[in-house]
Amino acid sequence: MALAWTLLARPHGMPRVTDFALKFMTLPPLEDGMVHVRNRWLSVDPYMRGRMNDAKSYAVPYALNAPMLGGAIGEIVDSRAEGLAPGDLVLHSWGWRDEAVGPADAVTKLPAITVPAQRFLGHLGMPGMTAYFGLLDVAQAKAGDTLFVSAAAGAVGSAVVQIGKILGLRVIGSAGGPSKCALVRELGADVVIDYKTEGLLSEKLAAAAPDGIDVYFDNVGGAHLDAALGAAKDHARFAMCGMIESYNAPHPAAIANIMRVVRSRIKMQGFIIFDYNHRIGEFHAQMGQWMMDGLIRSDETIYEGLRETPRAFLDLFSGGNLGKALVRL
Ligand code: NDP
Repeated sequence: MALAWTLLARPHGMPRVTDFALKFMTLPPLEDGMVHVRNRWLSVDPYMRGRMNDAKSYAVPYALNAPMLGGAIGEIVDSRAEGLAPGDLVLHSWGWRDEAVGPADAVTKLPAITVPAQRFLGHLGMPGMTAYFGLLDVAQAKAGDTLFVSAAAGAVGSAVVQIGKILGLRVIGSAGGPSKCALVRELGADVVIDYKTEGLLSEKLAAAAPDGIDVYFDNVGGAHLDAALGAAKDHARFAMCGMIESYNAPHPAAIANIMRVVRSRIKMQGFIIFDYNHRIGEFHAQMGQWMMDGLIRSDETIYEGLRETPRAFLDLFSGGNLGKALVRL
């Protein structure tokens, strides 16, 4: 038997812990070509909120009363698949549970490199890859650019700040609260904006970038996007990564400065990171090198035990995480 979190009801607005239920599930028999995995680390990510709605999106909605899915690192405990043996650590999407049995081609063996395994859910995984391709490919960031990044103390944002500095950009990061802002400063940001203190974000950004911004990496949407539009130089590039401010909002806020896209010829491009899966080798080589050179630091907020998974997920929306939010089993 395994234990898995299931979605009981589709949330309206902010999800509640009572929308989730931990249930026993029977594991299928281990057949040829399958592996039995015991999870060590679970990832909680903002995109999971979208999967809780019954709406068409790039990720299939979670079925009600069925085990939920999500990125995870597990250890093989039994295998009937070539190339995978007990003790191997694998990356897969059978998260929100303690154990799983499934096809071996749905798991990826972690390379034997000397970084903690959970980095493959953080800066060496999906969030790091999002920062890397979002900045380099989508926003076409280059040395000398002034970059503004929101949710700069989070999983994606903390990588954006550091990659921005490696590339020679002037980096302005925004985050909520003194401890997060202190982290963003330690990561190398030239200016840090605490968007939760008194005052208009647009005025704080104008003071931080009197000549305007060349690149905006949007993790938040709403007021941050509006302020970034207001501060954009002509021909600025916006990498539209996510809009967490609106994920639980019944009526997303209007963007007053949207006409500046036209007037200032702003190039705004949304992206979904799995479109870059074919370039994962390039990402691993470069990010791995930066990590080995001590240029990328990884901060994590770790929740202990499977039972904490919904709380870890919900904390993403109140800013409870510093760096990558993870559950350790
Ligand atoms: P984070 O680790 O950054 O966690 C979320 C953070 O968002 C919180 O810690 C909080 O930081 C901030 N936040 C939450 N609610 C609000 C709000 N109402 N207003 C302002 N800030 C808020 O998450 P990730 O790094 O995993 O994800 C960041 C963004 O990137 C998300 O929008 C996500 O959906 C997106 N994403 C997109 C991908 C893609 O392929 N396009 C892939 C991966 C992520 P604070 O305390 O500073 O407010």
